[in-house]
Amino acid sequence: MEKNFVYMFDHPEAKGKEMLGGKGANLTEMTRIGLPVPYGFTITTAACNDYYDAGKKISPEVENEVTASLKTLEENTGKRLGDPRNPLLVSVRSGAVHSMPGMMDTVLNLGMNDETVKGIAELTENPRFSYDSYRRFIQMFGDVVLGVDSSLYEKRLEDFRNHYGYKSDVELTAEDWIEIIETYKDITQTEAGLTFPQNPKEQLFLTINAVFDSWNNKRAVTYRKLHDIPGHLGTAVNIQSMVFGNMGDHSGTGVAFTRNPSTGESELYGEYLINAQGEDVVAGIRTPQPIVDLAKEMPEVYQQLAETSQLLENHYGDMQDIEFTVEHGNLFMLQTRNGKRTAQAAVRIAVDMVKEGIMSEQEALLRVDPDQIDQLLHNHIDPEHKQQKLVSGLPASPGAATGQVVFDADEVELLANEGKDVILVRPETTPEDIHGIVASKATVTTRGGMTSHAAVVARGMGKACICGCEAMKIDLEAEYFTVGDTVVNKGDIITIDGASGEIFLGEIPMIAPELSDIFQLLLTWADEEADLDVRTNADTPEDVRKALEFGAAGIGLCRTEHMFMAPDRIPAVQKMILAETDEERQKALERLLPMQQQDFERMFETLQGRPINIRLLDPPLHEFLPNKEELLVEVTRLQLTAPESEELKEKENILRNVRLLEESNPMLGLRGCRLGMLHPEIYEMQLTAIFQAMSGVMRKGIDVTPEIMIPLVSTVDELKVMRQLAIDVAQKIEEKSHQTFTYLVGTMIETPRAALTANRVAEEADFFSFGTNDLTQMTFGFSRDDAEGKFLQHYVEHGILPKNPFMTLDQEGVGKLVESGIALGKSTKPGLKTGICGEHGGEKSSIQFCYDAGLDYVSCSPFRVPAARLAAAQATIHKQKQKKKALMHH
Ligand code: PEP
Ligand code: MG
Repeated sequence: MEKNFVYMFDHPEAKGKEMLGGKGANLTEMTRIGLPVPYGFTITTAACNDYYDAGKKISPEVENEVTASLKTLEENTGKRLGDPRNPLLVSVRSGAVHSMPGMMDTVLNLGMNDETVKGIAELTENPRFSYDSYRRFIQMFGDVVLGVDSSLYEKRLEDFRNHYGYKSDVELTAEDWIEIIETYKDITQTEAGLTFPQNPKEQLFLTINAVFDSWNNKRAVTYRKLHDIPGHLGTAVNIQSMVFGNMGDHSGTGVAFTRNPSTGESELYGEYLINAQGEDVVAGIRTPQPIVDLAKEMPEVYQQLAETSQLLENHYGDMQDIEFTVEHGNLFMLQTRNGKRTAQAAVRIAVDMVKEGIMSEQEALLRVDPDQIDQLLHNHIDPEHKQQKLVSGLPASPGAATGQVVFDADEVELLANEGKDVILVRPETTPEDIHGIVASKATVTTRGGMTSHAAVVARGMGKACICGCEAMKIDLEAEYFTVGDTVVNKGDIITIDGASGEIFLGEIPMIAPELSDIFQLLLTWADEEADLDVRTNADTPEDVRKALEFGAAGIGLCRTEHMFMAPDRIPAVQKMILAETDEERQKALERLLPMQQQDFERMFETLQGRPINIRLLDPPLHEFLPNKEELLVEVTRLQLTAPESEELKEKENILRNVRLLEESNPMLGLRGCRLGMLHPEIYEMQLTAIFQAMSGVMRKGIDVTPEIMIPLVSTVDELKVMRQLAIDVAQKIEEKSHQTFTYLVGTMIETPRAALTANRVAEEADFFSFGTNDLTQMTFGFSRDDAEGKFLQHYVEHGILPKNPFMTLDQEGVGKLVESGIALGKSTKPGLKTGICGEHGGEKSSIQFCYDAGLDYVSCSPFRVPAARLAAAQATIHKQKQKKKALMHH
């Protein structure tokens, strides 16, 4: 059968978003199930493409079909476009396949002209309404179709109000509007060089042209690029007869949700306004009434609305967000779509719908967005707040907090001990500041990215953090920061939202987190479905306990350097680094050994046989020493005040060593296994701690199978040496304790070379764990400490990169290294265990990628574990669905 370019809403062949756009498909569907939808028709996306193919011209075929459909619409409504006695008025709206909110254009009240406005005035006995509608039309038409700057009309109206002393538009009379209309026509004439067209047919076709054109306006093109929407899809155009909610006290308009969108409770929820149009609800000039009042005011309409909303929910199998209008007591449905909801509501609705038999557990799991889950685990800012943000940075760790600004970690600790809420603000943080991060409510840094020290530490602790807030200028000396002209002093109160990266002055109300039974139930379903383990990155016995509470299957990365950072250990670590002789260094290591051993014992006991991946020391050693600038200041001060003191000598010694260890590119310098190669005694101490702990815990009858991980390997020979070291230490302790250990030795794949030579690397590895933080840094050549603050945001905003690759795995580049790394590794060792421990392990699209690539597990910060469990289930379900689809095609 020949395909049409235009379909009436009740045409039996009209079907699907691809043909009708989202809005058109929706209106058609509602019409089909017998709902009261104002009648109309949809011009298809194919007609849009036809328009562009013909060099931006509406072809005669399309024109004929539009004219014929218009006739059907006129017959159906009994009104005619341009008929002064009984005029038809229509809305013209764009509607693409994928929702592109606000990107394209809409014109309402089309069909108004100098004659029909009189007809409407008579018919409605409401001249004020009629002339107001006409001027709205001229303004929209001028803006959308003729490209007149809308603010010129607004300005004109404002001048008019001021001149006559009116406070708001409702005070204007019909005569006032008539006067305005004349000046609106003048504006249109001057700006567009065109007389406002009186012929409604001409109005209609010009508007259709304009809507097609808006598919390629700058906004829309940029939006499509950002959201991967192909340009060849085109937009549909919906022409629908107007209904009016502003025709008196038996008319009105409103929005309703079929369930409560903030709690998920099953109840009709929403608001409405009597004698108003949709715009009035949005504009917020009048306060709408809660929908329950409608039951009293218009009981029949309410009843019909309640039944309709039930019908729609059942039909679409999801909570609906409905727009309706009541004209003279008659209910009309204008729109329905899946309703946006809070995380709490999303979880409750999904679980309830399974209980009500509306959907399966699998479906329910797909209904909750893992990105939303963070809301359930952290404080968040009340979405109703009206405060203007002061500045924003990178959303490094979710959660919201209010507290006084403090610039020094020691002071944070002091004030927190007094029970004060404090926010630590620093240019960046180092391990030296860790106690400040622990004691604060949140951390803000002006430098550093999503994988910077502050970000990683804060995420691990589930504390809010904003990084890379470069617009904020800190003066540490004078203890204040500025953003533009605003000065914020130490002690001033700020509120930060780690989920959005926004910072506000003063206090904003918060909503507390909730890990409800319903949510736990959903996660149990997720674990049953998921075919991919979710482990966690945890570095201390406390973290491990927390992570197990969140349902982690084990530890995917224990960054042992974090065990060195506790305030009572840093001095021993510094002694170890600053040691001038081997004996001195050995002594310092001997002090650290029992502390590390005890940590491992506690972790092994807590894990009760679950896997644990332990990474040997990774960061450059200078990170454990004090900051060079601060030392310099200190040394200078002591040279002036206490030139003979021991303290000065000690500080000078530290400064000398800091300078010795200084590197231009520390992230590409002496770190990772390179440390182990040059200072095997450090790794030896760590290995001894691991195996001695293992020995003791095994004696208690608890299983332990550590996975020992060597970081930053770039050639198999590094791994060979380090692996041997591990085996030697293990053997020594096995002999001493008369035990046999089961353990794995493997490596991180975080340099491109390791990924490219993974077949060789696998010769010495029992497992691979992809460290995609460093792998991203080295694949792009983007510094993970600086790139996000300096240029990545610009890249993302301008569509050079679709997403921040430190948050969402770059599948095209870094992902290729992961895939080929797995394949090469398995070509040497088919049973090679594989996982990921970069930050991407907690992000949903990266998790899908990891699952598809065949990894055995993902690992992420403890607070991201619940979301990752859900994402792992979704990844499994999506793959199953794909397989089924492929089978059906065969
Ligand atoms: C990585 O590089 O991905 C990783 C997990 O290690 P880190 O972030 O500690 O460098
Ligand atoms: Mg790394």
